[in-house]
Amino acid sequence: MADPKYVLAIDQGTTSTRAIVFDHGGQLVATGQKEHEQIFPRAGWVEHDPAEIWDNTREVVGLALAKANATAKDLASIGITNQRETAVVWDRRTGKAVYNAIVWQDTRTQKIAEDLGALGGGADRYKAKVGLPLATYFSGPKIRWILDNVDGAREAAERGDLAFGNTDSWVLWNMTGGVDGGVHVTDVTNASRTMLMNLDTLSWNEDIAGEMGIPLSMLPEIRSSSEVYGNDREGGLAAGVPIAGILGDQQAATFGQACFEPGHAKNTYGTGNFMLLNTGTEIVPSKNGLLTTLCYKIGDQDAVYALEGSIAVTGSLIQWLRDNLGMITSAPEIETLARTVDDNGGAYFVPAFSGLFAPYWRSDARGALVGLTRYVNKGHIARAALEATAFQTREVLDAMNADSGVDLTELKVDGGMVQDELLMQFQADILGVDVVRPKVAETTALGAAYAAGIAVGFWQGEQDVIDNWAEDKRWSPDIADDERDRQYRLWKKAVTKTFDWVDDDVK
Ligand code: ADP
Repeated sequence: MADPKYVLAIDQGTTSTRAIVFDHGGQLVATGQKEHEQIFPRAGWVEHDPAEIWDNTREVVGLALAKANATAKDLASIGITNQRETAVVWDRRTGKAVYNAIVWQDTRTQKIAEDLGALGGGADRYKAKVGLPLATYFSGPKIRWILDNVDGAREAAERGDLAFGNTDSWVLWNMTGGVDGGVHVTDVTNASRTMLMNLDTLSWNEDIAGEMGIPLSMLPEIRSSSEVYGNDREGGLAAGVPIAGILGDQQAATFGQACFEPGHAKNTYGTGNFMLLNTGTEIVPSKNGLLTTLCYKIGDQDAVYALEGSIAVTGSLIQWLRDNLGMITSAPEIETLARTVDDNGGAYFVPAFSGLFAPYWRSDARGALVGLTRYVNKGHIARAALEATAFQTREVLDAMNADSGVDLTELKVDGGMVQDELLMQFQADILGVDVVRPKVAETTALGAAYAAGIAVGFWQGEQDVIDNWAEDKRWSPDIADDERDRQYRLWKKAVTKTFDWVDDDVK
């Protein structure tokens, strides 16, 4: 039998699930993709249906394999990458989720987070151990909410019947057999987003789980990002193929962008924006509003850490202009509309729809569009919306430079929004450094494929990833320093207008 020629990556993202077949050169062979429903039961709540996600996963795997004219025997391994923090709690006996997945953007856990902080230490109560501030973003308080609010959930959890996972664990458990022997595992990168894992020992912190009221029996086993966890189940579309890589989506993109040395960084422009800076085997605490997180761990090699700047709303602001305001009918039209004017006309749009993440971590903030006059038209608003992504990125980059003590000299970018050339030029202008886009833009799926391929010897290691990486396009700054400073100053002023909006009686 011929050697397998492909690796399959499953990218269980926030808006859609993709399956992508990659060849040995790291080139994309075929893709299957399906969006799932975004459920907004109340202001600030965001949910997904785990059953729909699992159905879509199977469908897109079938689609990708069919388009690649491939079957299980063509696959060396399968890698999984996923929206992080999003919490699924399911019953191991029935295989059914006890509640919808609570998505990372959801803000319902604000009170839980505040109450935990009030035990002492405020938002930084667990930061030294887990690298994260108490915020609505992370999984732990979401699990607590489900146990507190779903009838019978706490009792079932205490009996050992319930399992928790980010969507990597949910997909893996189902792929490896579900109620029939499913493997309940996660990798270090996903575990580092729960607020429950010790950064240094890579094990669950019993004290924090205890304070959050989460039985340890619910939690998946923590493993490396690149090793064989199990095989696709009998009767599965890739039956018998080893599932051998898991990386949270942002860490996967960092891996796919070949950021293997301390000081290497990438920025992904999707629903939100996420910049990760590799800090090597050193755990670097942030003094400037960044997260300390796991970057990856290959098999039994040492874990590699990262600093991360997470921005909740970037591409989703473009979706909002499309879906809630009807200002455009497709995301790429935002660029066309923005090009109808020369500048933002004085308008600044701070999309603090989920509060503000890095570097502010203000859950009391809400969105604001400021600087409006009769002069401003929808072209200016389109521009302000795109510029919001670039300004937020500048704030995160400044924090990275301050925390690491080294100034980044260029930024590797990826994600859906990097097709927008107006945004990319403005990004280079406002950062004052080059912005570089790779040839394979699907770096998230690619990173998961590499992790899975390295585990089974399909690729030898990081050098293959470096060799396969190629530059597509580069944007260099083309703006006067005083103009950059003026615009950034106005942006910072606009940000202050979003603070302190949420009073106790504001829903
Ligand atoms: P995710 O993986 O988070 O689901 P993607 O990387 O697929 O996201 O990026 C999709 C996001 O990019 C959407 O929020 C969409 O609004 C935005 N987007 C896509 N194309 C463009 C464009 N040409 N200009 C601006 N934004 C875009």
